[in-house]
Amino acid sequence: MVNLKINGISVSVPEGSTILQAAAAANVEIPTLCYLKGVNCAGSCRMCVVEATGARGLVAACVYPVSEGMEVQTNTPKCRQSRKMTLELLLSSHKKKCLSCLRNTSCELQRLSLEYGADEDRFASAKPDTPLDTSSPFLIRDNDKCINCRRCVAACKNLQSVEAIGPIGRGYAVHIGAAFERPTIESNCVGCGQCIVACPVGALTEKSNVDEVWKAMADPDKKVVFFTAPSVRATLGEEFGYPVGTNVEGRMVAAIRRLGNVEVFNMDVTADLTILEEANELVWRVRNGGKLPMFTSCCPGWIKFVEHTYPDMLPHLSTCKSPQQMFGALLKTYYCEKNDIDPENLFVVSVIPCTAKKYESGRPEFRKDVDVALTTRELARMIKTAGIKFTELPEEQFDEPFRIATGGGAIFGATGGVMEAALRTAAHMLDGKFEVLDFKEVRGTEPIKEAKYKVAGLTVKVAVASGLANARKIMEDVKAGRKDYTFVEIMACPGGCVNGGGQPTLSDSIRNSNLDLRALRAKALYTFDKKTEIRASHDSPTIKMLYGEYLEQPGSRKAHECLHTEYTARKKY
Ligand code: SF4
Ligand code: SF4
Ligand code: SF4
Repeated sequence: MVNLKINGISVSVPEGSTILQAAAAANVEIPTLCYLKGVNCAGSCRMCVVEATGARGLVAACVYPVSEGMEVQTNTPKCRQSRKMTLELLLSSHKKKCLSCLRNTSCELQRLSLEYGADEDRFASAKPDTPLDTSSPFLIRDNDKCINCRRCVAACKNLQSVEAIGPIGRGYAVHIGAAFERPTIESNCVGCGQCIVACPVGALTEKSNVDEVWKAMADPDKKVVFFTAPSVRATLGEEFGYPVGTNVEGRMVAAIRRLGNVEVFNMDVTADLTILEEANELVWRVRNGGKLPMFTSCCPGWIKFVEHTYPDMLPHLSTCKSPQQMFGALLKTYYCEKNDIDPENLFVVSVIPCTAKKYESGRPEFRKDVDVALTTRELARMIKTAGIKFTELPEEQFDEPFRIATGGGAIFGATGGVMEAALRTAAHMLDGKFEVLDFKEVRGTEPIKEAKYKVAGLTVKVAVASGLANARKIMEDVKAGRKDYTFVEIMACPGGCVNGGGQPTLSDSIRNSNLDLRALRAKALYTFDKKTEIRASHDSPTIKMLYGEYLEQPGSRKAHECLHTEYTARKKY
């Protein structure tokens, strides 16, 4: 351990720690911009400069190592002056369109400029005017708001190993984009949105579909239905001041209902349905010598990654559609037939943690079963626009016939959740008596988890990974024959959908603190699962009703038509 003082406060931290880490241990906050815990640590923006004994001049706290007896001052006139100058230089070339910026009030540059009293016109330069990149259905890049912190580049490279974006040009002309100035859509980008949630300003945002939803709701010929993904209940509250990890399911349902004349369904139902179909497919592959390991297919970011990077492994993907697309297909078939609705007049809105699902909903094979996919952030904006006082709402329940789902469906939102829910049902399918419900080995936010289970005389070897850099490790091990898994769950976003690219953006002071945000959000789902009356997907009365009335049985011809799909090998850029 190394002993030092931060602003006179004694603190002891492990050798090799940075001043920023020591300051966090002493409960002292140092402002940052290019630093993001677990994503980027470059020491380039100079916002975190401090004075330290033994150092010449100001040093960047995020990269400068501590030493025994060091004394650090984080709030001297020299530090404040330097930070203010940094902000004024950043503002000199910034498109100052704060009023209509989606990050207004959650922008790190705006917050720090206010705190330091930065003069936005001190170094006024030519007005920037770079065209927006709107080429993809999920993301908008506005480089005139970019501060070149490169957190997005680090997220895409370090977390996802996709490297779809990087710095282009030199000196003053440097900017971020896909190689050879191609638009985002002509790159290996998988749409995960991890760059969006990493961005401290409004340079990267989701492509909003909110106006389409308002328009459909105002159309008397349209019936509008919403369904919400499992993780949204665990994160939406953050937009309304609830602590991280608060389950706001009841108020979320009430708020959507108050947006207009809509019905609100529970997407955990099709998470349960995915489990039935996926477990059935796994059991079939195990018994009939099908392609193993089988990989989950509920994450469209992961699917696009395989299509670009490992097209030879496509037969290993489960053929199940994602829960979003299963829900859309069921609504436009079963639900429309049952309620005598023309599918053309049913407007389906999914609320998801994810930007990749915006891309997925437009894939041609899905025939617009989901008309619009809204992120958690977009739903929050609609609730605020409608003047709904979220915190004062009563708790309400989802609408029938898609109200009741299981705890297994709810934990889909966290890494390991799909695996655990699938094991509950696959084990039951292999051995009718198997009733274990907790598979704790696959829980938690570790990047890769492995476990082995004995069921009905079979050894089932499983692995769970989140973050595409970890998925790539698993893929390479499987291809090289170093691992012989039976079943693998992959989620593109580190920690799973609770940490998806469409989730609320929290301030840097929360993200860089010692809180484990992924674990807190996941805990809300596991607590919900524990309290739920029915925890195994195969026990759900809604699932029994759907197979009884429409889908016949898992893997039936009807189920295949409605709930399964195929994949496309894509160009690798
Ligand atoms: S959406 Fe994901 S893959 Fe695409 S650029 Fe951003 S981080 Fe990279
Ligand atoms: S787009 Fe955002 S995250 Fe990326 S370099 Fe610019 S400001 Fe930083
Ligand atoms: S992990 Fe979840 S939020 Fe992230 S890309 Fe996949 S489905 Fe979307």
